[in-house]
Amino acid sequence: MHGRKHLFFPFLLALCVTPVPLGAGEASSPQTRPRVIVLGVNGAEWDFLRPLLLRGEMPNLSRVIEQGVSGKLQTVSAPNCPKVYSVFFTSTPPEQNGITGFIVGGTTAHTGRLRAEPLWSLLSKGGVSVGMANVPATFPVMPVEGYMISGMLTRGRGCEDGLLCSPKLSEVQGGTAVFPPELVAELLENVGDFYIDCARMPTAEALAGREPAVTLEWLARVSKIREQQTKLFDYLLAQHPTDFTFLVQSCEDRVGHWLYPIQPHNVGYSPKQHTIAVDAFPNQYRALDRVLGTVLKHVDQNTFLLIISDHGIKPLREKEEHQAHKDHAGTTPIIAKHDFEDADDVPGVFVAMGPGIKKGARLMGFPISVYDIAPTLLHLYGLPVPDQMRGRVVVEIFEDYRKD
Ligand SMILES: [Zn+2]
Ligand SMILES: [Zn+2]
Repeated sequence: MHGRKHLFFPFLLALCVTPVPLGAGEASSPQTRPRVIVLGVNGAEWDFLRPLLLRGEMPNLSRVIEQGVSGKLQTVSAPNCPKVYSVFFTSTPPEQNGITGFIVGGTTAHTGRLRAEPLWSLLSKGGVSVGMANVPATFPVMPVEGYMISGMLTRGRGCEDGLLCSPKLSEVQGGTAVFPPELVAELLENVGDFYIDCARMPTAEALAGREPAVTLEWLARVSKIREQQTKLFDYLLAQHPTDFTFLVQSCEDRVGHWLYPIQPHNVGYSPKQHTIAVDAFPNQYRALDRVLGTVLKHVDQNTFLLIISDHGIKPLREKEEHQAHKDHAGTTPIIAKHDFEDADDVPGVFVAMGPGIKKGARLMGFPISVYDIAPTLLHLYGLPVPDQMRGRVVVEIFEDYRKD
C-alpha cells in the first residue's frame, strides 16, 4: 500500500475542476462527481496495437495515448476473462472472490458466486451512478444505481451453458441480462435485438473442407456483432449518461484464438486455414479503434477515460495445456491463447487520460496491475478503498504526484 500518503493531492484537484455530470435522471445529485468511462477490451495485445499505431491505423487510440498514460497491465497467472474481470470488480484474488474461471463448482461462473463486494455496488452505495454494458461475468445482472447489461457468460437459446456463445437480447434464459428490466423494451426498440457476446467459434468439423466459406461467414457475423455493440454503446452514452460507465468488447480475443496470423513454424499451423484471412486479427483492432472513436464523441476534457484489457494473446508455444477454452471451445483448432502460467507473457493494456493525468507518459515494466483498477476508480470518486482490496491507487499517473 505504498504511496497512500500521496493520495489526496491529485484527486482533490481533479474533483474540484470537474463539473457535475449529467446524471441518469434519478441518480443525479448536487455533489461534484467526476465522469469516468472505462472501455474494456477482451485481450488487447500490444504486439498488434503498437505496429498499427505506428502505421497510423489506430488514430483514436493514438490520440488517447498521446494525451494520457499508457503501458502494460500486469495480470494474474493463467488469465482468462471471468477470472480477470472479477479481479477488476473486486481487487481480490480469484480464490477469494470466488470467480476462478469459466467454470465454478461445476457450472458456468455467475454473479451469484461472487464473494467479494464488486465495484458497481460500492459505487452505487457511494452515490455514483453506474452504467455497464457487455462486461464479462456480470450475468445475471445485479441492481445498481443506473443500468447493467450483461456480457460474456450470459445464457440463452442456443447458448444454454453461456460459454463463449452469443444469445440475442430476446433469447436470454436462466437469469436477467438487463437491469432495470424495463430497459429491455427500450433497447429492443432503439438499438434492436443485439447479440450479447461475441460469436461461438466454428468447430473443426464445420471447417473441414469449407475453410474459406466458414471463416469469412463467421468474420462477417463478428463485424455485425461489433456494429450492434457500437450502436448500443452510443445509445447508452447519449441517452443514459452515468457518472461511471464500463463498456466491454469481446470479439478481439475470440478471433485471435483461431485466426491469429501465425507462421509455418508455429504450433498448429495449417496452410489451408492460416492463409485465408491473415488480416482478420489485426482488423479487430482497426475496428476497435472505430468503436473507441464512437466512445470519444462522449468524452470531454473533464471526463476520465480508461482503456483496459484483462490480458494479451500469444501463439501457442509452451507445453502447458490450454485451459481457458479447452472444455467449451468444442473442437475449434485453437492456435493462440492467453492462459499462460507466466502472466507476464500476456500482459493486458492500461491507457488513461483525463483531468490531471500526465500527458504522453509511458509506463515501463509492470508498475500497475489488474488489482489496481478498482481502488483507483473508487478513489477518483473520493470513496474509501475497502481493506480486502489487494490493489493500490495508481497515484503516479497524475501530474501532481511527487515522489518523496
Ligand atoms: Zn479475456
Ligand atoms: Zn480467450
